[in-house]
Amino acid sequence: MAAASPIASVMATLTPRLTDSHGRVIHDLRVSITDRCNYKCVYCRTGELGAQYPELAIEDYLRLIKLFVGLGIEKVRLTGGEPLLRHGLIELIEDLARLRTPSGETLDLAVTTNGHLLDKLASPLKAAGLNRITVSMDAVDAPTFERITRVPGSFKKVLAGIRAARAAGLTPLKVNCVLLRGFNDGEIEGFAHFAREEDVVVRFIEFMPLEEGRLWSPEIVVPLTEIVERIGRVLPLTPMAPREPSETARRYTFPDGVGEIGIIAPVTQAFCGACSRIRLTSDGKIRTCLFSQVEHDLYGHMRAGESDAELATYVHSVVQRKEARHHIGEPGFLKPSRSMVHIGG
Ligand code: SAM
Repeated sequence: MAAASPIASVMATLTPRLTDSHGRVIHDLRVSITDRCNYKCVYCRTGELGAQYPELAIEDYLRLIKLFVGLGIEKVRLTGGEPLLRHGLIELIEDLARLRTPSGETLDLAVTTNGHLLDKLASPLKAAGLNRITVSMDAVDAPTFERITRVPGSFKKVLAGIRAARAAGLTPLKVNCVLLRGFNDGEIEGFAHFAREEDVVVRFIEFMPLEEGRLWSPEIVVPLTEIVERIGRVLPLTPMAPREPSETARRYTFPDGVGEIGIIAPVTQAFCGACSRIRLTSDGKIRTCLFSQVEHDLYGHMRAGESDAELATYVHSVVQRKEARHHIGEPGFLKPSRSMVHIGG
């Protein structure tokens, strides 16, 4: 176990917020609570690999999240793998909803899910104290959707999940769609109508080189400009002002104000300069960037018996090493050792 440097110890006591060496304040934590998934989306998984990394006990995630909250994390998003597969999720949300930030605020608590099990879980999640949910959905056409997920009947299940979440009050409800040229870019206009009809915020995400196989190329990415232009041809879009500097999505509405579209463009319009995020993998490793080449074994330090103060010092020292930016599309770019499903999207 490496001893924390004296400088990191001093920083831990002097710095009230987690701040990286580029001056970015880290207030957003994503925690993967399993890397198992019940979908095999063609652009994410090869279909051959299953879970690859261990899961921690739910109470271990709770202790680590509490530690981060004590260091100024305000927003916690539980993800995976598929987080709704994890037993103990509802109890974890209940415990997280009781936490307070150092300034006495409740956490902004969110979950990202494929929605397959959401029809039954939306109400219990809301009752447990969940604020928001994001459902991933890559097509509004049922056969196209099921070709992507490789699970028959999945479209009906996810639509039921979206409607149950809205009825439970998990709103505004976000629906994330990853676009790939030649796979589902024909869905763009359909999603614009879906946003209005289902009263959801549809967010298109540019495809990043984080898949298990080797699919990514610059040509397969559908850029923000093209999405805006194509929707604009059928339904004129009105840009909306950002709510905060670290907001990842460019937001648009329609002239009558019904429906919202967001576009997250990490490839063509990277937002690393405003990144406020850090990730904890299902096996308790900190990742300071989706594209990090190194991981930091926070759980290893915890298992070795370190106190919360020692773990806090370690987290401060890790955050100092957060990368300035990713290098997607640049010569020499290296994919991270874990794919998206094993990191936690
Ligand atoms: N199973 C949950 C779900 O489907 O939302 C959570 C995990 S999933 C890995 C999180 C998100 O990452 C999904 O919206 C998925 O579409 C997205 N994703 C997966 N691979 C991606 C990639 N290479 N580029 C961009 N987004 C990706």
